[in-house]
Amino acid sequence: MFRNFKMVSRVVFGRSCFDQLDDILYEKRNKTASSMVFLIDDVFMQNKLAQRIPVQDQDLVLWVNVDDEPKTEYVDELTNKVKAFCLEISPNHLPDGLIGIGGGSTMDLAKAVSLMLTNPGSSADYQGWDLIKNAAVYHVGIPTLAGTGAEVSRTTVLSGPEKKLGINSDQTVFDQIVLDPELIAGAPADQRFYTGMDCYIHCMESLNGTFLNTFSQSYGEKALSLCRGVFLDMVPDSDDKLMMASYCGGMSIAYSQVGICHALSYGLSYVLGLHHGIGNCIAFDYLEEYYPEGVHEFRQMMENNSIKLPRNLAADMTNGQLDKMVDVALVLEPLWENALGNGWKSIMTRDRIRELYQQM
Ligand code: NAD
Ligand code: ZN
Repeated sequence: MFRNFKMVSRVVFGRSCFDQLDDILYEKRNKTASSMVFLIDDVFMQNKLAQRIPVQDQDLVLWVNVDDEPKTEYVDELTNKVKAFCLEISPNHLPDGLIGIGGGSTMDLAKAVSLMLTNPGSSADYQGWDLIKNAAVYHVGIPTLAGTGAEVSRTTVLSGPEKKLGINSDQTVFDQIVLDPELIAGAPADQRFYTGMDCYIHCMESLNGTFLNTFSQSYGEKALSLCRGVFLDMVPDSDDKLMMASYCGGMSIAYSQVGICHALSYGLSYVLGLHHGIGNCIAFDYLEEYYPEGVHEFRQMMENNSIKLPRNLAADMTNGQLDKMVDVALVLEPLWENALGNGWKSIMTRDRIRELYQQM
């Protein structure tokens, strides 16, 4: 069976296209009792972007904090806040839309809250594949960092009480994305690099995986060449290019899968709380055996961008923490299978994964 995957319905791209948001939302506003919910990374609270958000009288603005990557508990808390706001308007009121403005973490929170407004229970109940029953509230993603591909993916990655696993469903996909390269211009250089490398690693894992097909390859190769332009050749208009690299990298893995680095990075993030981008960079540096050319080029990119990664993370780790990281990584079977084929279990044993973590 071929995957019949859902894509983002509407995309606007271009410098300053953020200013079109009001018109875009107007189409979706109920003309008698309209309310929109804006979920915005609190890093922008004192930023001039805050004044450009087209908030109207009955709208709700929720500043979200992503010092920790999204947890199911936080999603439930935010959902309850939106529900309480809706109840004040009228019983059974739902917002006309929910708009997430920020990096991958904020976009994932927006996706998750839009799902949880129409699906009962806790977001932890839906971590997995196709467990969502009801359509989400109309939701819009507006990235302020580029690389994760969260703007195009059918998942929202959440850490729950038991595991770090996405809510993967067709309903998760944004209805609209607004890709304005000016919004990523102010990101700190190291954060921009780590998130950008998420895209580079998506390409490496997709293009070198056993699930590759021409659809994935076409997007993956384009994303890779854009990443090389941005991080190796330091081309002009790099924000535009990085934004499109993220989009294409996300499209590439949509029809294939990520691989070893992502599996290991999930373990690092679950146990040590490392953010996805930096966790990927730390893990990728030790994967020369599996992605030799990619790791070599990645090191060149680090040098060109004066990036120094933290080292010796394993030095202070307990046996229990190491075991938990191996558990978290091993659950991600499709990632291992994409990277190493059907027989991956005989290659990537618990001991080998542990050994890789111990080097980091
Ligand atoms: P992020 O959203 O975690 O943000 C990292 C930091 O950068 C935060 O401190 C944030 O406040 C700050 N920031 C964001 N935009 C900024 C800007 N323009 N200027 C200054 N600071 C800014 O970073 P990310 O790398 O974009 O996202 C990582 C998250 O994305 C993880 O939670 C990961 O699990 C998730 N992810 C999701 C998918 C998906 O398909 N849904 C794919 C990959 C990663
Ligand atoms: Zn990733």
